[in-house]
Amino acid sequence: MLRLLNEHHDGTVRVVGAGHSWNPGIETPDALVDLRHLRHVRVHEGRTRVTVGAGCRIGALLKHLTRRGLTLPSIGLIDRQTVAGAVATGTHGSGRHSMSHYVQSMRIACYGANGDARVLTVDSGPMLRAARCSVGALGVVLEVTLACVPQYYVRERCAWRPGLDAVLEKERDAPLQQFYLVPHAWRYLAQERSAAEENRRRGGRGSLPRVLADHDRRAPPCVTEVLRLAAAQPSPGAPRVSAHSAPVHLPPVARHRPQRPSASHAS
Ligand SMILES: Cc1cc2nc3c(=O)[nH]c(=O)nc-3n(C[C@H](O)[C@H](O)[C@H](O)COP(=O)(O)OP(=O)(O)OC[C@H]3O[C@@H](n4cnc5c(N)ncnc54)[C@H](O)[C@@H]3O)c2cc1C
Repeated sequence: MLRLLNEHHDGTVRVVGAGHSWNPGIETPDALVDLRHLRHVRVHEGRTRVTVGAGCRIGALLKHLTRRGLTLPSIGLIDRQTVAGAVATGTHGSGRHSMSHYVQSMRIACYGANGDARVLTVDSGPMLRAARCSVGALGVVLEVTLACVPQYYVRERCAWRPGLDAVLEKERDAPLQQFYLVPHAWRYLAQERSAAEENRRRGGRGSLPRVLADHDRRAPPCVTEVLRLAAAQPSPGAPRVSAHSAPVHLPPVARHRPQRPSASHAS
């Protein structure tokens, strides 16, 4: 990588991940770097940190972690992005925190003050904050070290909320929640989610089908259908939410493979 950077010192080097972010930032007439083969995964002693190659897809990382009973603190709806691409754009996971919040250090190939290419380790201060959402501007991210946690269950309760404030108020109790502003109804459908220690299933008024059925009586069916589709996107490696019960407690992340998931972990 350093040789490549030195060779293209006067050109325009760009990096592409999985290409999920359509933007001119990855266009170049010069050198476009694709790190898909840089995808090693190493869980650190103590099992609270994992170092991963920049080109590793999030789904592949989750599979590695699952085999060790671990997962990421926050997982989004789509897991096809590369780890570096998701971090470079601050792609969010479930709830308030994005994957970037859990980045502890990064190795970045960039130019030093004398113009030569070098590898920089960034692990604290303003540089780390900048690297957590650098959109490729700091250099070529080679490796990322993230926090990892033991697998957990996710409890979900769905509810209609009248406004954004009402949704955000719930964030303390449901830090993994996702929500939608529903067109025409001008109210919010919140999937209030939090981590749970055990797997329990209970039917109830807070289940997604019951809440959507309530919406059916008030809004055009197409709106409900869009919500249903949005909530049903499968994401391998992420915990699923059962359609039949709520609050619902899920099997550990990435172990559960329901045949017809009705909703996935938030994005
Ligand atoms: C169908 C779909 C659904 C999505 N859903 C969500 C969602 O729910 N939540 C959300 O937050 N986002 C979502 N996104 C956005 C997507 O997660 C982000 O755009 C993410 O950046 C994609 O990662 P990537 O690997 O495809 O990166 P790319 O799109 O390839 O690159 C993104 C940026 O990161 C830079 N980059 C990539 N790799 C490196 C590297 N090694 N070093 C330095 N810079 C690098 C690139 O130069 C570019 O500027 C979605 C996108 C799609 C297409």
